[in-house]
Formats: sequence, structure tokens, C-alpha cells
Amino acid sequence: MAEVTMEKLVTLCKARGFVFPGSEIYGGMANSWDYGPLGVELKNNVKALWWEMFVQSRLDMVGIDAALVMNPKVWEASGHLATFTDPLVECKNCHERYRADKIDLTKPCAKCGKSGTFTDPAAFNLMIKTFLGPKEDSSTVAYFRPETAQAIFVDYPLVMNASRKRVPFGIAQIGKALRNEITPGNFIFRTREFEQMEIEYFVHPSEWETHFESWLARMHAFIDACGITASKVHDHEIPSDELAHYSKRTVDIEFEYPFGQEELYGLAYRTDFDLTNHAKFSGKELSYTDPVTNEKYVPHVVEPSFGVDRTVLAVLLSAYHEEEAPTGEGGTEVRTVLRFPKRLAPVKVAVLPLSKKPELSEPAKALAQRLAKRWRVDYDETQSIGKRYRRADEVGTPYCVTLDFDSLTDDAVTVRDRDSMKQERVKLDDLEAYLANTLNT
Ligand code: ATP
Repeated sequence: MAEVTMEKLVTLCKARGFVFPGSEIYGGMANSWDYGPLGVELKNNVKALWWEMFVQSRLDMVGIDAALVMNPKVWEASGHLATFTDPLVECKNCHERYRADKIDLTKPCAKCGKSGTFTDPAAFNLMIKTFLGPKEDSSTVAYFRPETAQAIFVDYPLVMNASRKRVPFGIAQIGKALRNEITPGNFIFRTREFEQMEIEYFVHPSEWETHFESWLARMHAFIDACGITASKVHDHEIPSDELAHYSKRTVDIEFEYPFGQEELYGLAYRTDFDLTNHAKFSGKELSYTDPVTNEKYVPHVVEPSFGVDRTVLAVLLSAYHEEEAPTGEGGTEVRTVLRFPKRLAPVKVAVLPLSKKPELSEPAKALAQRLAKRWRVDYDETQSIGKRYRRADEVGTPYCVTLDFDSLTDDAVTVRDRDSMKQERVKLDDLEAYLANTLNT
């Protein structure tokens, strides 16, 4: 079947309430996207899976949830105010702006078609500035964080004290980051407001390579758990002359999106750059003394960095399938199905009474309510059962539970599987156990 296009995906996301344009009734707001009822469930499931894999299940990890606006000195120490820039060029003819590293400057301007009209690249800082409080002057300037990482470095001594962890150990955070991107676009791939899931893993300087390799493997394990198509995922070793100012080694994990192969996640060896600079700028001691050897040193850092929105995009693209399916009346039709891993599916179970008549709809509603104690459940009683199956497939609901007139006497329901489309009669008393068997996979 045909490959999914961005157009198909964006249309489905809007129609079914995954992601739609922000501020739409006012004509929208360029490149701002809102997650709808299904999108928020999917995003929450991605974040919960990440937290479970990297924080909850590991004794060497703890989490934080820090403020979005931090003391501006943080950004001075981290180097963001001086160097967190992208190269900006402008077409002198139509004034369209581009990121110089993302286009071929020898080609004509994509907007007006003129050649040789680009200005020389200038460094454009991506930090979004604001003023806190009623006075707008240099004393009230603040910045929205462009990454979640810095809060982890700044909170490092307090976390060390409170959690009594020993190196190697890591601090994780999920949260929003804001960047004044020059060219946001490609749906939720590049926006000015997005969410990150980041880990700073503190290690002895002599051990960074081993930790780097194991984090790379763990990042791929997460990608697999999300059902992201492995053959479309590629590691890209960043050449040493292109490394960010803080990094000694970076591997970008890239994904083949319909618009090209681009970054999904990044893994960076940040050395002791951040802790050393924060110690210098804050005047606080940020070193670590090994309780066994008494060696005192500034821990080095391996940083696995994940974008939530790019994960959601890669998950949707990987899950999207169009395939021939029987209509129920002897023919075939194309069904669209989102084959999410079950634990990421926004809705786990759809409860469908065969008829709208109260003798079926009432027990069906009660059943939906019963299952909703454990899972996100949808209740759907309109149109034919075939159409309702298709609607559930299109949003990736793993199970449809149909209550029919026999159910009233045999205390059983028909459970239909999204992927195999097989149907099985299951006793109502066994239903939760039946569903629980696979819903966590
Ligand atoms: P790019 O090269 O695509 O601009 P980056 O290298 O600047 O990305 P990082 O600073 O490494 O990105 O950020 C870590 C992760 O945060 C990225 O791997 C990506 O998943 C996510 N991310 C970064 N910028 C954006 C954005 N503007 N919109 C959505 N996600 C983003």
C-alpha cells in the first residue's frame, strides 16, 4: 500500500482530534499546533512510557520538574546568550528568511525564484525574551528556556543532597522548551514551542564512552518500544568540526520523515562543561567526592535528549497503514489503521452496542463505565458496526467490544482485535483479565 504522506496524516490528525491548528477560529497562528482529545492521550502515553523506562524502573535515576523561566545568569553561564544561534539569511528581493544551514545558497530563493539574492549569513539567537513584572527594562529581562537540560545542571547540588545518589546517576525532566526558530514547519516537527524529555547522566570522566554506548542502545530500545519503524531510523555521527560548543561527541538519531531524513533525538557527551561553568558563574561548589575512593572531581555528562513532538510524529507515521480489508458484505475496501503499540494507543477499548435500543445501550454504557476504571474507553452507538470498526481502526483502538442480544443471556461479548480483525467471544466476567493480558504491550 502507498506510503503515508504528510497531507494524509495532517488531515487525519485534524479530523480525528489528534493535532489541529492552534487559534483556528481566528484564522490560526502560523506553525502553532494544539493536541486534541486523542493527541493528548497519545502524548501522555509516550511520556509515561519514557518515564517508566528511564526513571521509574531504574535505581540510578531521579526526576525533576523545574520552572520554565530561570535566572538569566543561567543562560550566560551555559553559553546560550552568546552562542545559541542559527545562521540566518534573507532574500534581498522578497525578504523571505531562511536558515542558511538548511538550504542550498547557490540555488534561487524558493519564494520569489530570484538567484544570487541572499544576504551573508548572520548569527540569530533563538532565545525568546520577555520581561517579568510591570517594568520593561534590563533589570526585568528574562528568557524562556530553550532546553530543559540547564535546570538539571542548576538543580544538581540540591538533587544530590536530597536523593543521596552516587555517580554514575542521572536526572531526568520532561517539559516545554521555547525557541524562536527561523523556519518552523513540517507540522509538529519544528515548532517554536515544543516538549523535551531529557536526561543528564553524571559519570566519572574515565567512563563516559561506556555510558555513551549504553545510552545509545537504550535510546534505540525506546524507539522500538514506540513502534517507530527501525529501518527508517539512522545514527548520524556529527563530525568534530560541526559539534556544538559544549560537546566532544554527538550522535543524532535521525528518522526518514516524508519530507526527508532529519533529527529525531540527540545524544551528546557534554564533558564537565555545564557544571564547571555554573560553578564559575554561581560561585557554588559543584564537584563530587567519591565516598569510597575520596576522589574529588566534577562529574562528566552524557545527555540523551528526546523531543516529545517528534516522537509523536514518528509514532503516527510508523503506525499509519492503509490496507485491503473485507467489507462484511463479501467485497473489500481500503481500511486506514493506526497500528500503535497497544500501550501507546490513545483509546484502548471501544464499546459498541449492536443496537441503539436501551436494552442493549444501557448495559453497554455500564460496561464502558466499568472498563473506564482501568483504561481510556470510547462508547460508540451510531451507524453500522462495520463503520464503527473502521472508525476505531483509524484512531488505533486495539479492541472493540460488541454487546449483542445474545449477551443478555450468555453474559459474553465479542472482542475484535484491531490488527488481525479476529473476533472472539469472551465472558463478561473474564473481560478485564482478557484485555489486560495484552494491553500493556
Ligand atoms: P535541529 O537540528 O532539528 O534544529 P537541534 O539539534 O537544535 O534540532 P536539540 O537542541 O538537540 O535539537 O534538542 C533536542 C531535541 O529536542 C531534538 O532532538 C528534537 O527532538 C527536539 N527539538 C528541538 N528543536 C525542536 C523544535 N523546534 N520543535 C520540535 N522539537 C524540537
